[in-house]
Amino acid sequence: MTAPAPAVTREDARLMDILQGGRCFYCGEPVGAKATFDHVIPAAYGGINTPGNVVLAHRRCNRMKGDRLPTPEEIARLMRQRRGSRLGLWPPITALAAAEPGQEWVTVARAVAALKG
Ligand SMILES: [Zn+2]
Repeated sequence: MTAPAPAVTREDARLMDILQGGRCFYCGEPVGAKATFDHVIPAAYGGINTPGNVVLAHRRCNRMKGDRLPTPEEIARLMRQRRGSRLGLWPPITALAAAEPGQEWVTVARAVAALKG
């Protein structure tokens, strides 16, 4: 058994806001106090509520993203933002970054299953 991943605290959210420059992860416009937590790997793919899998986004941007996996550009942006940060990246996101084209969801499913042990 591995320890359960930590949930997102208020302090984590403040640090995300700083790392994102006060902007929505998806549209890049200021987001402020109305930010919602978007799960980078959506729950539909096994994504969990832990700092390494959460970004701040407008409610409408969060809704528009819906249940899709992040694009390579989004993953690259997240990696840049999180470099050297204790928030880190949830391992399935790192796995997805290295996925072969067409193998994205399989790669994520394997990485999520591996965490469950
Ligand atoms: Zn937005």
